[in-house]
Order: sequence, then structure tokens, then C-alpha cells
Amino acid sequence: MRKDSFSKFKNLIKKAGKIVIVTHWSPDGDAMGSSLALYHYLKSLKKTVNVVVPNEYPEFLQWMPGNKQVLVFEKDAAKVTKLINKADAIFTLDFNTLKRIEKLGAEIEKSQAPKIIVDHHQQPDNYASLYFHDVKACSTCELIYDLIVGLGGKKQIDKKIAACLYVGLMTDTGSFRYSSVNSKTHLIISELLKTGITPSDIHSAIYDTYSESRMKLLGYALSEKMKILEGLPVAYISFTEAELKKYDYKKGDTEGLVNYPFAIKGIKACALFNEGEGGVKVSFRSKGKIDVNTFARKYFNGGGHINAAGGKSYESLEKTVAKFISLAKELV
Ligand code: 5GP
Ligand code: MN
Repeated sequence: MRKDSFSKFKNLIKKAGKIVIVTHWSPDGDAMGSSLALYHYLKSLKKTVNVVVPNEYPEFLQWMPGNKQVLVFEKDAAKVTKLINKADAIFTLDFNTLKRIEKLGAEIEKSQAPKIIVDHHQQPDNYASLYFHDVKACSTCELIYDLIVGLGGKKQIDKKIAACLYVGLMTDTGSFRYSSVNSKTHLIISELLKTGITPSDIHSAIYDTYSESRMKLLGYALSEKMKILEGLPVAYISFTEAELKKYDYKKGDTEGLVNYPFAIKGIKACALFNEGEGGVKVSFRSKGKIDVNTFARKYFNGGGHINAAGGKSYESLEKTVAKFISLAKELV
């Protein structure tokens, strides 16, 4: 855990007129939820705030309050670069290394503005001047909640902020079922619900949004593509680019898929491999002490959390999967 004092955060925010919030490549519910919650909070303090993401995010996150103000670096590089150059402070949320934001990382590195890390991933890099980091937090949204409350902003947590925070807490805990969930998680949710948000509506907006082809891709994955390694409590699913294309793959369509094999009794680690333009995107999930963060760092150019990590492979899909199969013994 590395947390600077609230007075340091207060001073920094007080001095900063223009603030940029950045989150990671392929933003998920926690990335967007934490960024937009902080956006609304800082706006309530009369700051000029911009949320910047490296690339597009799934449609099921595009209803969130503040969504229209989000700038995508891949689409709007000149505007984003200008905002970063002019920023008095840059918050980087839900990631631990500038490598996670690809080319946007170079722009952030060039900027003289103080950087702030708010994150719950393992082993954060050293680029920031202020930290609000805790690997025990179930989500970056939990940390943003703590930060807002610690800054004396509990009263500012309105329906908009609560909805954004709810999304991150819900998605990063697999709807409140992972081992990261504790009484504090539910206490925060209880406070958020007091603002009048409707959990069932948020749940539906995130999860009940499959296209027909996404649902069929899920069926295909489970019936044809899921493999269990012989003699090991390990399962994996892999897709070629052509298979994804056949099912009209859209960003986010394989989100959550990596977890399905856990429903099989005894499975303790799962992997998902998606072949794409720039290589193979890899996802790992595990139970208990099985450390997929170390595994992803060591072998697949990635990292994340002990029980949820991702990475990339620049070898062919076939070679990547073969590498995983040969190394899987190390996992368990
Ligand atoms: P996912 O498998 O859902 O893409 O990611 C699982 C976790 O690992 C997330 O918390 C994500 O931030 C992290 N992660 C995913 N891909 C990478 C990567 O390429 N590098 C690092 N360092 N972390 C990743
Ligand atoms: Mn997160």
C-alpha cells in the first residue's frame, strides 16, 4: 500500500486549474467508472477537467454520466496532446505502468505536470508524484470513493458519481463474488445506494446488452473451443481472428468469457487467447494463491492482479497457446 496524505492531495488539487484524467488501454467498467466519478467530483470543485482514454471502449459502457465528454486519443490525438501539455495535474487511474496506455504514455511522460496514480494493480511504476495505491482494494472505484470522502467530499457524491462508482465496484468484483469483496465493499455500496441509484438498472445496462452474435460466440466458445489441460485444474479458450470475425466480434464481446470454466468443479486457473492485428491478447484468471500476475509478467509481457492478469504475445496464436500449455504446470 502506498497512500499519500489527503492534505497533499488537497494542496495539489487546490493549485490545479486544469486537470486531465487518463485511464488504461481498452478501458473496462472500473477504468471508466473511476475516471468519470473523479471527473464529476473535480467538476463540482469548479475545475476544468478532461477524461482521456487511449482507445475506444465497449458500447455497454457508453451510457455512463459524462460519457460524451470523454476524448479518445486514437481518434483525437492533436486535441488530447494539447490538453496534456496544458494540464496542471494528470490523474492516471486503474493502471500501474505507462506501458498500459501505449502511445499516449509518451505524451504523459513529456508533460511537466505532477502525475497522480490511483490504482489497485500489483507493483506500480515510479512515474507519479502522488500515490493512492492499494492492491487490497477491490477496484479503483473503491479508492476513488475513499479519496473523495477523505477530501471531505462525501456530500458531493450524487447520483451521477454513485452510478459511475457502482459500475466499477460491480464489474471488478464479478458482481460482488470475487475474493476481493469484504464488508467494506458492501458498506460503500450501501452508501452509494442512498443517492437513489437503481442497482438492477445498472446491472442490466452493463450485462444484458449482448448482440445475438456475441451470445452465439459464447456458445461456440463453451461447446467447441474450451479445453481442459490433462491432469491439471486449468482450462483455456482460444480464438483465431477468423473465428472472431465470423461471429462479428466487437470490442468487449469476449469480456468475462475467461471466467466461465471456473463453473466446472475443480478448475483453478483459466486463460483466454484472442488473435488480433497486433498479436495475441491474453487473459488469465485464477483462484486462491495461484499467481497469474507473476506468470503474465514473466511469460506474456503483461501483469495485473494475483487472480486476474493480462498480457500480449507477438508469436502466432498456435505458438502462444503451445507455450501456455507447456508452462501451465508452473501455475498450479
Ligand atoms: P483482462 O484480462 O481483463 O484484459 O485484464 C485483467 C487484469 O490485468 C486487468 O486488471 C488489467 O488491467 C490487467 N492487464 C490486462 N492486460 C494487461 C497488460 O498487457 N499488461 C499489464 N501490465 N496488465 C494488464
Ligand atoms: Mn480495476
